Amino acid sequence: MREPFEQAVAEGRAGDRLWLYATYHCNLACRYCLTESAPGILNRRTLGAETIIRAVREARGLGFEKVGVTGGEVFMLPDFAETLRRIAELLPVVALTNGTLFTERRLRELEALTGLDVALQLSLDSADAAQNDKLRGRGNFDSVLATIPRLIEREIPVRIATTVEDQTPDELAALCELHRSLGVPDTDHIVRPVVRRGRAVTERLGVELGPHDVLPELTLTADGAFMHPFAATVRGGVTDLDLLVSRQILPLEAPLRRFLALVGDQPIGDDVVRSLR
Ligand code: SF4
Repeated sequence: MREPFEQAVAEGRAGDRLWLYATYHCNLACRYCLTESAPGILNRRTLGAETIIRAVREARGLGFEKVGVTGGEVFMLPDFAETLRRIAELLPVVALTNGTLFTERRLRELEALTGLDVALQLSLDSADAAQNDKLRGRGNFDSVLATIPRLIEREIPVRIATTVEDQTPDELAALCELHRSLGVPDTDHIVRPVVRRGRAVTERLGVELGPHDVLPELTLTADGAFMHPFAATVRGGVTDLDLLVSRQILPLEAPLRRFLALVGDQPIGDDVVRSLR
């Protein structure tokens, strides 16, 4: 299975990152949330720490080069700092977070990541607090801005992810000035549009996804394995299954086999433009 996977990656059919949705639970309820995450979500769809660690261990053996962990808010899981340390010992990791749950205690826990190849990717949509908080909730801007220097002080690599709905070029330029002033370079600033899935459908926000807009990257959730990290979305409390790969997630070889069969049928090369990265 390792060889066909590495070939699919070399041909541009698939990415070499395994994604994991650690939980769909979140302390925020952003208007464009793909997973309808919120404090009171009924079905948290949490992957246990041991499942995450096993999946990453198997991923390394199957030729995956890196891991992304997302949600929901990963730090809603009390043991997530420890899980992060354990998987970062296996493969390089980026963990996506809303940046609002970094207490002193949590920051101390994260000091265990020193020397490991791990980055935290924090969401920040505008240099203007009101504009940022319009979609993400009151107080979000101040909270994220307070967290970034505290992570950098501890030498934890920080990336900024910006989700664009109606920000002007001037607003985005101001945001770039802000992240540079905080010590986050342009290479660590990811900008993407709101994707019209999940809560963004209900809110009539974002862009529709074309069939080849996103590079396929095997994505595990408590509901099954999906084609890419924008696939495992929730609407009306129900998981979207249009981009499901398999209900089975472990052993990882099982969903990977099905994933490779699906990406093997897709066009590659100049026929494909990936508009979302
Ligand atoms: S977009 Fe992220 S931070 Fe906002 S509600 Fe969804 S999971 Fe939480």
